[in-house]
Amino acid sequence: MRVLFVASEGTPFIKSGGLADVIGSLPKEMAKQGVESIVVLPKYQDMKFADKIEYVTNFDIFMGWRKCYCGVFKYELDGVTYYFIDNEQYFKRPGLYGYDDDYERFAFFDFAVLELISHLNIRPDVLHMHDWQTAMIAMLYRERYCYYDYYQNIKLVFTIHNIAFQGKADPHLLEEFFGLDNYLYYNGNCRNDDCLNMMKAAIFYSDIITTVSPTYAKEILTDEYGEGLQSILQMRQHDLYGILNGVDYDVINPNKDPMIVKKYTPRTVKKGKLENKLALQKEVGLPEDPDVALIGIVTRLTRQKGLDLIINQFEALCGRRVQVVILGAGDRVYEDALKGVAYYHQDKVSMQCKYDFGLSCRIYAGCDMFLMPSLFEPCGLSQMMSLKYGTIPIVRETGGLKDSVIPYNEFEQTGTGFSFTNYNAHEMMDTIDYALHTFYDYPENWDRLVQRAMKEKLDWEVSASRYIELFSSLL
Ligand code: ADP
Repeated sequence: MRVLFVASEGTPFIKSGGLADVIGSLPKEMAKQGVESIVVLPKYQDMKFADKIEYVTNFDIFMGWRKCYCGVFKYELDGVTYYFIDNEQYFKRPGLYGYDDDYERFAFFDFAVLELISHLNIRPDVLHMHDWQTAMIAMLYRERYCYYDYYQNIKLVFTIHNIAFQGKADPHLLEEFFGLDNYLYYNGNCRNDDCLNMMKAAIFYSDIITTVSPTYAKEILTDEYGEGLQSILQMRQHDLYGILNGVDYDVINPNKDPMIVKKYTPRTVKKGKLENKLALQKEVGLPEDPDVALIGIVTRLTRQKGLDLIINQFEALCGRRVQVVILGAGDRVYEDALKGVAYYHQDKVSMQCKYDFGLSCRIYAGCDMFLMPSLFEPCGLSQMMSLKYGTIPIVRETGGLKDSVIPYNEFEQTGTGFSFTNYNAHEMMDTIDYALHTFYDYPENWDRLVQRAMKEKLDWEVSASRYIELFSSLL
């Protein structure tokens, strides 16, 4: 089986969030399990390995009235073939997204992927698209490309990583960029809320829709979480599957991590964590105290991540015997609020306002607890990373957080973390208090909790085989 994965980011080349981690690890695991895995990504200015990738070919793409250059570069890594789509007008600029012409940039990318298939003669059995940037491939395929002999019978799978980002554009772009007649908008195939909705198009046109955790697959069918797409998802619910993302333990592993001060295993975690904790406190300017409970937060600063709850309870939290280190960048209002509390509690809180992969690893390794009270969370990787590093997650029971963190049960001595149900600041604070009580008053129970967390298996092996089963059922 040949699977072509298409996405707008992927590690180790370029990353802005969890999508990149998935693209960096799922194809690799599927390749290990015998699937021919090909990944297509844009060739961004800031990508790593730019000097290693090899030029393959170029061709023109006709997008509305535009004739665009499309270069193709190639790289092989861990049994996966990567292709990079080159067009300097669209991708030679800093960062990944957030430009006024993002719809045009990714419309170009979508065409490029479909053209690449025939130019390189790599017709896949399954075309696996991820998030809105690649969503229109499904519509273009069904409305145009599938009529060409060469392209027939490719199965389409679309994965929703976050339904909050749908690609909602002006309806006239359907003709302008994609060359598709606007009756396909008026008949509702891609229309939502008076916009061309790219994610809706992919949900409508794909053979199968997946999302990144079983709980999120159920949540997005509801008005509360569906972000306006719940009706089309309900229509397609028999083709909707939730498969929990995994993490790549070749990379996310305290015993292999080159970014941390002291490597450790479950056997050496106590000593290892202590060294990492002291080094982290020093690095972020907190008093070096081996005994205080150190809570980490690594996140995009957006409403999704439960920052309203955190900010609401920050003063109360600072009244406890804790230190908090926050690494995050994003919405200005959250940055300012967190900088404010950090300023008033310099002996307890360190706010690191940036994106820093190395520091994120050192936080996962050096902290005792990891706080992630998300409003919604399709899957979430941070809690899985903290589990692997023996840093006990405190999460809200939503989406993948619910599917990956088993609530601590002090009577049976089971569970891997602490969780609460409602999006409520006091419930969060009570749960943090319970975690602190366990940490300070029952250290042997805490140690056992750390052992269970580190031994929890949340890698890609099982999840990749679920994808393979699903794809095979299509063929
Ligand atoms: P999302 O994809 O919604 O941002 P996930 O939990 O799925 O959330 O993935 C977030 C990933 O990005 C994790 O690997 C996390 O460590 C990383 N990350 C988030 N913010 C930062 C930051 N400021 N610096 C470094 N890494 C970050």
